[in-house]
Amino acid sequence: MLLGKSRLEADAARLAALQALERRSMGCIACRLRPGCTGVVVAEGNPAARLVIVGEGPGREEDRVGRPFVGEGGALLDRILASAGIGRDEAYLTNTVRCRPPADRPPRPDEIGTCTALWLDAQLALLRPRVILSLGNTATQHLLRTRRGVASLRGQWFGLNYDAAPGEAEQALLMPMFHPAYLLRNPARTPGTPKALTWRDIREVAAVLHGEKQPEHVAQLVPLDMDGQPGLF
Ligand code: SF4
Repeated sequence: MLLGKSRLEADAARLAALQALERRSMGCIACRLRPGCTGVVVAEGNPAARLVIVGEGPGREEDRVGRPFVGEGGALLDRILASAGIGRDEAYLTNTVRCRPPADRPPRPDEIGTCTALWLDAQLALLRPRVILSLGNTATQHLLRTRRGVASLRGQWFGLNYDAAPGEAEQALLMPMFHPAYLLRNPARTPGTPKALTWRDIREVAAVLHGEKQPEHVAQLVPLDMDGQPGLF
């Protein structure tokens, strides 16, 4: 009983800390992306969710309404999740950077480094997700500290360590998947196409998320500074 009460208190403290972090990030002006956008798009969804979805950054529609994953891409993401029985309310959605890059260019490494060090890394530590979906190259490359693209990493489970509390590391299961914006540009559904592969990936994610199976294999990547240099000598 005491254990249950202290757990509830810890969860309440984590939620309060997450909400405070979200509020602080609304006023962020730490990188060059902020002057060119309408506002900081922080996150949306269930902070108690076991699933966290990380995209690249806000696009035109997200910037306009101040919410992540809206517009055509957001609607497609909803359909992808629903196709595997995952409700949007089962997830917490956020992005690697929180301000829309000019002309929707990919965020630059220094922008990603600044934004994630300030916000995403701390957010994940407070959320303590069981499963993370990294959508597209930017989120996948940042979270897995790799230069490899999502096309070669999708469909595999990776272990992602994060600091849940000082001196207390936890591990989430991370699955890279194609970004909905990419799928909108590649609408074919025949076997082997990005959409068909995503259908396979999201069913695997749902099965693990809902406790119907364990990942058969959790892959490890070589560190970034060795990536792409096998057999250097
Ligand atoms: S992109 Fe991130 S670091 Fe840059 S201003 Fe927006 S919230 Fe701050």
